[in-house]
Amino acid sequence: MERLLQEKKHILKSEALQEYIMKTSVLPRENEALKKLREATMSHEWSLMSVPPEQGQFMSLLLKLMNASKTIEIGVFTGYSLLTTALALPENGKITAIDLDRESFYNIGLPFIKEAGVEHKINFLEGDAHLLLDKLLEEGEEGRYDFAFVDADKLNNAHYHERLLKLVRIGGLIAYDNTLWFGSVAEPEISSVTEPGKAPGEDFFDRVRRHTKEFNKILASDHRVEISQVCIGDGVTLCLRLS
Ligand code: SAH
Ligand code: CA
Repeated sequence: MERLLQEKKHILKSEALQEYIMKTSVLPRENEALKKLREATMSHEWSLMSVPPEQGQFMSLLLKLMNASKTIEIGVFTGYSLLTTALALPENGKITAIDLDRESFYNIGLPFIKEAGVEHKINFLEGDAHLLLDKLLEEGEEGRYDFAFVDADKLNNAHYHERLLKLVRIGGLIAYDNTLWFGSVAEPEISSVTEPGKAPGEDFFDRVRRHTKEFNKILASDHRVEISQVCIGDGVTLCLRLS
């Protein structure tokens, strides 16, 4: 955890480059309600969990390119990626948004989602994604989704992948967030920074790093999808469902 809080939120070569991109191409185009949601999230101790605006901009473009109208999101937090998605979908679009905890979404994000006039596109389900994805499958939602964004408990990504490959239609897209885990996937096996009381390699940061490396290998050898590791934000892997 310690290390998480120290890390910068992007993997670019320098802060100056990040600032340049934000100032030139991203912030001037950011939707007003999204900007307010982002600012309201800043006071949260885990604000670094939100999708950064340059990634939101990219996702919005992707969703429009695909003509997506039905999507699923695992991991809502205060709702930056959710509001981004809601704004990108057509008027009759629908997002199934899943989070274990409704508090950050209801207390921080929802007023801005209402302000943006897109609340009707969102079906928020509070609960564990493990159970809820299986429930959606039982309800006959197989093949119904155009797009899925996965940004929750990274240790379970491989489990979600199998369910999402059923829920998302052939030709649809699954996007996994944080697949470069602060750039640490290329570092030596055990990092030098350790949480107090934890053996090297056993703190949260290292555990997620190990799982992320495993998961990236799984995706690279999964022939049911075509993939692209996109180096934006903290790394997003796009998976196009082929079969
Ligand atoms: N996409 C969000 C950030 C998500 S942070 C944004 O842009 O702001 C990760 C979220 O995943 C947290 O809100 C956490 O409550 C949720 N989460 C963690 N484990 C989960 C699980 N098993 N099922 C559903 N949600 C989970
Ligand atoms: Ca994330």
